[in-house]
Amino acid sequence: MLKTTGDEMITAVYDKGTLSEILKKKLEESSDSFAPPVLFNITENDDLSLENVMSFTALKEKAVQGKVNAVIIPDMDKKVRLVIERIYELESVPLYYASLNQVVSNKELELKNISRDKPWLDVMEYHVADHCNMNCKGCGHCANIIPDAEFPDLNNYKNELIRLKELFDGIGLIRLLGGEPLLNEELKEFITLTRQYFPFSNLHVVTNGILLTEMPDRLVQVLHDECVTVDISLYPPMHEQENRIRTYLKDKELLFMIEKIDTFFRRFTPFGGNDAAKSFAHCESSRNHLMNKGRIASCAMPYSIEILNRKYGYSIEHNAWIDLFDSSISGWEINKRLDLESSLCTYCREELQLYKWEQKDAQNACESDWIFTE
Ligand code: SF4
Repeated sequence: MLKTTGDEMITAVYDKGTLSEILKKKLEESSDSFAPPVLFNITENDDLSLENVMSFTALKEKAVQGKVNAVIIPDMDKKVRLVIERIYELESVPLYYASLNQVVSNKELELKNISRDKPWLDVMEYHVADHCNMNCKGCGHCANIIPDAEFPDLNNYKNELIRLKELFDGIGLIRLLGGEPLLNEELKEFITLTRQYFPFSNLHVVTNGILLTEMPDRLVQVLHDECVTVDISLYPPMHEQENRIRTYLKDKELLFMIEKIDTFFRRFTPFGGNDAAKSFAHCESSRNHLMNKGRIASCAMPYSIEILNRKYGYSIEHNAWIDLFDSSISGWEINKRLDLESSLCTYCREELQLYKWEQKDAQNACESDWIFTE
């Protein structure tokens, strides 16, 4: 634990491992007048604090004494609210956010001022293509049963971003996905627009990798310049391509992550009847907030239900969508609703039923690909 008896002024940097160490070093070398940086965490208990890391209790004491020059949070991805909503407690201390690109680039550090007037949104996922060229059986976004190519309208997306900007001070993680994003010839424009409104977000493009090494040069350039992480879900037909993909991405100096996937899961029960609160509490998808057509929901299920309702004749209704353009709603209210189960959660089982990944296109897909079987 760090002793804090000294009278010296500090700049508090949230401890997030290597990224914070890099940020700390950049601050020490910066021409800006920051007091010496000290790492802190949000643990109240001093005994649980790590060596050379200040506990939150100690930081609050220091702030009360007027000895905290600024608090800086490095990129927090989808856990951004966890930290930012704690540091609001440090009244009158200036709060800043350092994006991933700011921390890792060689450029002079440019920090975002964190406002106390509007909240942050942890994550926003957005379909830049509804259909896909992989056709996974039981796709969680129903991309394998979308009959035709479907892309969103760039202007509508711009209006949605403007609205998000009115509601939120920032977004931790933005994932452009689908379907398969690389099928959209306007992907470059979607990325540029996203960066224009949310320059400090951690931005990912999620792809199955099939078209990756055929990306046009101008798209590669934008991925590089806008510090976009290429987030690859590698399904069995692509497993042998892993080395080729890694080499390509390293050559292009792109940020990337690869997750090999060979199992899928079912949890959907078309007649409902599950304990919504329990299903929600155990649901990892509930942190993957999907924005679609001016609405946002905790997960992609409300979108998928529209496809399943149409395809298999269900008439499931629910209250999971939140209308972003409702003039009476605030970002705080949206976060509160995203944190709670919806009536749609009664259609999800608490436990997941795993099965071996396979391909099934629209002709061969059947209702049971999504339904939890007893
Ligand atoms: S509807 Fe509820 S339980 Fe089902 S995936 Fe979405 S958040 Fe999870």
